[in-house]
Amino acid sequence: MDKLIRCITSDGAVMAAAVDASDIVFTAQRLHKTSPVATAALGRLLCAGSLMGANLKQKKARLNISVKGDGPLGTVLVVGDSDGNVRGYVTNPDCETTYYDNGKINVAAGVGKYGILGVIRDYGQGEPYIGQVPLVSGEIAEDITSYYATSEQIPTVCALGVLVDKEDERVLLAGGLLIQLLPGAGEDAIEKLEKNVADLEPVTTMFAKGYSILDICKTALRGFDVEVLDETPVNYVCSCSREKIKSYFMGLPETELRECFDENGRTEVKCRFCNKKYELGIEEFLN
Ligand SMILES: [Zn+2]
Repeated sequence: MDKLIRCITSDGAVMAAAVDASDIVFTAQRLHKTSPVATAALGRLLCAGSLMGANLKQKKARLNISVKGDGPLGTVLVVGDSDGNVRGYVTNPDCETTYYDNGKINVAAGVGKYGILGVIRDYGQGEPYIGQVPLVSGEIAEDITSYYATSEQIPTVCALGVLVDKEDERVLLAGGLLIQLLPGAGEDAIEKLEKNVADLEPVTTMFAKGYSILDICKTALRGFDVEVLDETPVNYVCSCSREKIKSYFMGLPETELRECFDENGRTEVKCRFCNKKYELGIEEFLN
């Protein structure tokens, strides 16, 4: 079962959160039948969505992260909530995979080098907060770091990893780490953290060595006293329902409504996040 942990240093200088999202990414792979590059791109964004969602400052808040690059993957989109649960999809899940010389999946080639990372934070009241930054690398973790620096002015280190089996292309491990400097962090804290970050191994390497998510946070925060804020289970959760699908049609004028249904007055709608199919009849909307 996947879990997310959030930690803070006792001096209040640094926050670190880590997630093991192996089951979440495996579920996404199974639902969307993703190629390795689509698995890696969507998987990384799902890890980021879980971490960023859990860090929303209010309960029942929602987060929408989209990566729209000029590469063959199209748009990668993830929705997360303040419990760290996520769902997502990619426009072209069967996108061809290319590899770097070291054997790693070339995620940037799938995403593209030019494009936009957009984040919408919705706290359920008032206007949602919308931020966007140009893509820095298309490898996603650096793009998230750039988003926090530019749009939220929070110095952040983000590491995301999805390890895919070379033979059967199945997700083996997936997870992420988000480290943020809190207001009032002193020079010595920054220096210590920079050294830790420079020594940090990839998240999936640490998992493969048997590190827990707490071990990963403690490694990132070596030299600090670490307090655990919370540790929670996280899942791939889709909130679609017949009622939600119906409410979309209810807003349409009758002529447009009729165009959505076949000559027998039937239509089938597939949820983009979980591929669940809903059969609807036009009589449900006409009175
Ligand atoms: Zn769904």
